[in-house]
Amino acid sequence: MNEMKWDLSQLVESTDPDHIIARLEEMVSESATIKKHYQGKIVEMDAANLFTLLESRDNFSLKYEGVAMYCNLLYSANSTNPVAQQLNDAMRRAILRMGQNLAFIELELGQLLSSKPEITDASELEEFHHMLKRTLRRVPHQLSEVEEQLVMSKDQNGIDAWSQLQGDWLSTRTFRIIIDGEEKELPYGQIIGLYEDPRREVRREANRIVYDALGKDAILWSTALRSVCADHVQMCDWRKYPSVMTQSLISNDVEEDTVRALMHTIEKNVETYRRYLSLKAKLMRLPKLGNWDIIAPLPDDPGKKYSWQESKKNVVEAYTQFDQQFGKYVEDMFDRRHIDAEVRHGKVSGAFCATWFDGQSAYILQSFNGLVGDVYTQAHELGHAIHAYLGSRAQRPSNYEIGSCIAECGSTFGELLLTEHLLTNSSSDDEKKAVLCKVLDEFGMAAFQVSARYFFEHALYDAIKAGRFLDGELISDLWTNSRDKIYGSVVEWLPEMKWEWTMKLHYYIPNYRFYNYPYVFAQLFVFALYRVYLEQGKDFVPKMKALLSAGSSRSPRELAAELGFDITSEDFWQKGIDQAEEFIDQLESLL
Ligand SMILES: [Zn+2]
Repeated sequence: MNEMKWDLSQLVESTDPDHIIARLEEMVSESATIKKHYQGKIVEMDAANLFTLLESRDNFSLKYEGVAMYCNLLYSANSTNPVAQQLNDAMRRAILRMGQNLAFIELELGQLLSSKPEITDASELEEFHHMLKRTLRRVPHQLSEVEEQLVMSKDQNGIDAWSQLQGDWLSTRTFRIIIDGEEKELPYGQIIGLYEDPRREVRREANRIVYDALGKDAILWSTALRSVCADHVQMCDWRKYPSVMTQSLISNDVEEDTVRALMHTIEKNVETYRRYLSLKAKLMRLPKLGNWDIIAPLPDDPGKKYSWQESKKNVVEAYTQFDQQFGKYVEDMFDRRHIDAEVRHGKVSGAFCATWFDGQSAYILQSFNGLVGDVYTQAHELGHAIHAYLGSRAQRPSNYEIGSCIAECGSTFGELLLTEHLLTNSSSDDEKKAVLCKVLDEFGMAAFQVSARYFFEHALYDAIKAGRFLDGELISDLWTNSRDKIYGSVVEWLPEMKWEWTMKLHYYIPNYRFYNYPYVFAQLFVFALYRVYLEQGKDFVPKMKALLSAGSSRSPRELAAELGFDITSEDFWQKGIDQAEEFIDQLESLL
């Protein structure tokens, strides 16, 4: 038995491909039956009938969750396996057909709620209260059925195509770079790996080559970005969104005053991040960091390697020290072999945790190479798993549509628990420095660097409102201004870095405007929670459990209020900054 390979057989009654295909067919035909039974009737429903419908939708999703997950995970673990390819393809087609069959529910539910908004408060529907409120918030911005279809079909060759073009362009490019006297031609996915190379010159050269090449096609990028933004402005008009951020606020279940308090806290505290960057320059024995040094490893990093067993031990202990039950859930993930960590050809890159709601558990994929980063990834994904264990025991599937602001709570909190554990058990100052820089690098990127992207996105829309034409040079000006607001003069930027905006995938993704602040939210929120944990000790544990058990049954604002915090106040967010300051102090004391 290979401990580093997951056991997916628990997801299905039989792993026979014919059985799997038959189950997928059953899912499609059951969705057709639901359509036949309910279509046209939702608009007239009373609270009791609506409850029956929503409950049966939840039961339906639980019934077929395992088989759909099985196909998806089998393929993620080895995309070159022909059986996995066939099953994954069958699953995707089945899901699409099921989605088409059930699309009427959202639409008719919207119509029902707009004609009878008081139904959301009916006592029979208490369990669905917040989900219905969220739906109600979207309703005034829905277009008619025909208009929605028209938008979708025009988007296919419009904004969807711009995003496709950006992705295709990047993934088919190759870049020439000379390393150790040898010229290499690398695809984009590989050359960006050199950004974290231990050799400073290699990092600098990789950055210069990539952004020089991207800048040469500025006309392509600016046309794409201009079109995506103009489309958004137009759709805001059609959908009567009061601001360019409304769509994002609704999907993240937050209000504008929260985001304002959060971003203002960041602006007020840029010196905290700059202080860290100056310390890092000292650790790297440089007068100043270059942009190619910001996330670089330290020259004295001992590069400690962890075996699978050592990693597991550290992570289990870190969680157990916080809470026995957390530790038990993590052990359960290992004992039942729900983690795929083996490095394998054909496995998807990166890492993820997939909630298995029906099994009240989760599955994790990662490629474990024994670096400290891999131990962090394991702790991160297991934090998601704990979220899944608690949430699936306390909620129904309708209340587990967790938005980006809260989704990273368990995972980032787990990383901080691991940090505490590694700091306590590390044998040298160099090891401690490496751990602290790992945490602070990530904090800096998620809280501050991402904030620059948020300021940039606002600047784009302000420029459009002011009637300015967004060409490559103007967009680059807006980019560097937003960037400098965060970094000031503590970092030296290659001139080519003015083209950095060109490769930020999210800016080109259709209907995904202002994707960025949830990362800032999650990072500061968890740092603030961790600070409270240090202040309150064990009293904090049940509060953290309540938060992770709540799923999406309440908004982030309500969840924070239950913990005694007001997320519309800058004082709360400042706690997160204070915790980062604490880590920076610890690092400074090691110098
Ligand atoms: Zn995550």
